[in-house]
Amino acid sequence: MTEQIVSLDVSDVRFPTSRELDGSDAMNPEPDYSATYVTIRTSDSAQGHGLAFTVGRGNEVQAAAVAALRPLVVGRSVAELLADPGAFNRELVGDSQLRWLGPAKGVIHMAAAAVDNALWDLAGRLAGKPVWRLLAEMSPEQLVSLVDFRYLRDALTPEEALDILRGAAPGREERTRRLLERGFPAYTTTPGWLGYTDEKLVRLAREAVADGFRQIKLKVGADAEADRRRLSLAREAVGPDVRIAIDANQAWGVAEAIDWLRPLAPLDPYWIEEPTSPDDIMGHAAIRRAVAPIRVATGEHCQNQVMFKQLLQAGAIDVLQLDASRVAGVTENVAILLLAARFGVPVCPHAGGVGLCEMVQHLAMFDYVAVSGTTENRVIEYVDHLHEHFTAPVTLRDGHYLAPLTPGLGAELRPESVAAHRYPEGPVWRELP
Ligand SMILES: [Mg+2]
Repeated sequence: MTEQIVSLDVSDVRFPTSRELDGSDAMNPEPDYSATYVTIRTSDSAQGHGLAFTVGRGNEVQAAAVAALRPLVVGRSVAELLADPGAFNRELVGDSQLRWLGPAKGVIHMAAAAVDNALWDLAGRLAGKPVWRLLAEMSPEQLVSLVDFRYLRDALTPEEALDILRGAAPGREERTRRLLERGFPAYTTTPGWLGYTDEKLVRLAREAVADGFRQIKLKVGADAEADRRRLSLAREAVGPDVRIAIDANQAWGVAEAIDWLRPLAPLDPYWIEEPTSPDDIMGHAAIRRAVAPIRVATGEHCQNQVMFKQLLQAGAIDVLQLDASRVAGVTENVAILLLAARFGVPVCPHAGGVGLCEMVQHLAMFDYVAVSGTTENRVIEYVDHLHEHFTAPVTLRDGHYLAPLTPGLGAELRPESVAAHRYPEGPVWRELP
């Protein structure tokens, strides 16, 4: 194979979701769900698609950051990149000038995510496999080669990572069979957006249980009295056996989080998600000690594997919520899954947005088959929005994500959706009143 990457295209794609208050929470009252959408093409016309998710304004900044990575990608040998995706990821994150913009955090890191995800999509397509399966069939040694251990070694050594993967290897086939049969458990955030009326909340919570979900999630953190009322309405609607997670989207300080949660505790919330700043590791640890048995969850804004390492080392979280495009793509997420396994903390990926469900299911399924080996207390977030824009949208059945069979990572948008939603020139935006 002498093929090369010949182009990297990036599009600013936005959906006017703020019109319906879909996605509204305590910190994001009016998001327009958006994607910095990346397509790489090879000299023999193969393609890989990836994206970084944003919530509207600033997506043009994200797109500019991806464009800044173009010289690291275009002209490269496909065989060379696919032979050592770990080395390529370290180049994306470690460029000596671009690194100043992070390092390994924020817009430039999310740009690396979009590119790394596009490369894994290409790898899956060329192998004829969905990425969960491509990863799950790699050897423990190949998987460990994806990880940059430089800043992780005090918590996870290559030998420990190998032990985890080798320990899970004998059960891979059986778990793949079960995954293909049953899928992976999901929970839904659809009922719980902050902008929805009580009636809509109750109706959607009932529908979620009827659809087979065993966990739902409500947004909280704007109005304490309304949170108590909405949580008790939801509890009444779903009964005592369905888990209800709550999500503050970073609304509180540490003491405030503890105070706010006290009156909610009798309604048995399963986890509190993003109670405070995503960078406040000791704050999460203090909240966790104070609000147990309510579990503490975070990760969708956790900027990189080093922060996840510290959250785990500090005993600050019960649930790790990795995100497909916040850290540097599939490659860095493999490291994060290994860290979580090392500390015995379940991974429940963040999803929703644009294309996050489509991508993140591959990581959870790989984790089940080849890393943690279990789905116990593990659920993938599901939000019932915007899937129709993807060429291979997620499929849910009876509260489970069915294992995708389409080769690649699932982030390919339909060309007509890209054309219609391009910002600001797409017809959807030109025609808005
Ligand atoms: Mg959240």
